[in-house]
Amino acid sequence: MSRLWNFSAGPAALPLPVLERAQRELLDWNGSGASVMEQSHRGKRFIAMAEQVEADLRELMGIPADYAVLFEQGGATQHFAQIPMNLAAEGDSADYIVTGHWSEKAANEAAPYVRVNVAASSKAYDYLRMPARDSWQLDPTAAYVHIATNETIHGVEFHDVPDVGDVPLVADMSSDILSGPVEVSRYGLIYAGAQKNIGPSGLVLMIVRRDLLARPGRKMAKIFRYAEHATHDSMLNTPNTWGWYLAGLTFQWLKDNGGLGAMAERNRQKAELLYATIDGSGGFYRNPIDVPVRSRMNVPFTLHDSALDAAFLQESEAAGLLALKGHKALGGMRASLYNAVPVEAVQALVAFMHDFSRRHG
Ligand code: PMP
Repeated sequence: MSRLWNFSAGPAALPLPVLERAQRELLDWNGSGASVMEQSHRGKRFIAMAEQVEADLRELMGIPADYAVLFEQGGATQHFAQIPMNLAAEGDSADYIVTGHWSEKAANEAAPYVRVNVAASSKAYDYLRMPARDSWQLDPTAAYVHIATNETIHGVEFHDVPDVGDVPLVADMSSDILSGPVEVSRYGLIYAGAQKNIGPSGLVLMIVRRDLLARPGRKMAKIFRYAEHATHDSMLNTPNTWGWYLAGLTFQWLKDNGGLGAMAERNRQKAELLYATIDGSGGFYRNPIDVPVRSRMNVPFTLHDSALDAAFLQESEAAGLLALKGHKALGGMRASLYNAVPVEAVQALVAFMHDFSRRHG
């Protein structure tokens, strides 16, 4: 088998046992005589699976009963727009905390549907640090406060839930959901595109406090209204059945591997190993982000001389390390260390980095 250690930012590595099980079950799922992709989402087998997937997620994340779990489509990007449509009435404002590319995009995409108040932004600092909580200009009458808990491109992450008082906190957790325990009750709405820590792209997981579903929002078609999706168990129309199934396999894998506490510990070890290598390289590698807010999931770094970038990428791939090229907005490199990336992959990466810097230093 020729699978490489995969550091892709997304769509990203999936746990090998998940892929192997999907492979085994592909042609004949659950004794049904057909693949999971080839049968009705209204059939009893699929419904039973869907219920189990939700129950497993509720157990893993400790989701309280007054929260609905939705299996949405459209990518997180569609929900940048759909969230204000649902949570804000005409004329309402919402507070956005802009800490990188994705939270900035969320604010821009919301603008047609809500008065966007950028209550804090670290753009002037090139997103290298978080705006201090006491500098946030929050509006107590805002419909909600929006954050991205982890910035996939800029590599900054909230390590604590910010206190925003009684205004519901809405969080884009696309790139750090399930990477450790989460206090769900501190949030009004959590959403995440699946293609990093959950499963394939085309599925968006949403966890939303039920009282927020009762907000009238604006006039819109049913397909956009989260309350309708909740009433119809995310089957208002044909869901992404394949994504739902694979998400379920990932949740089972997480349960089999100690749950989110164990993931947090593994993710801490992985990130520490890589940051220690960068910081200990005498400037050969650099990550300029304020240390307390460095991301555990996405580690952007540069080489002291960008003329070495092409050699780094070519040699790393030859050494079995895939997808280390940085996002075009920042250049350099990026290693994404999602749940499915094992400690051994990071050990292989840092061994390569030491070797490369010795040869090119
Ligand atoms: N938010 C974050 C934090 C992301 O990393 C991404 C995608 N990388 C998105 C939103 C957009 O997701 P999608 O492409 O699924 O719309």
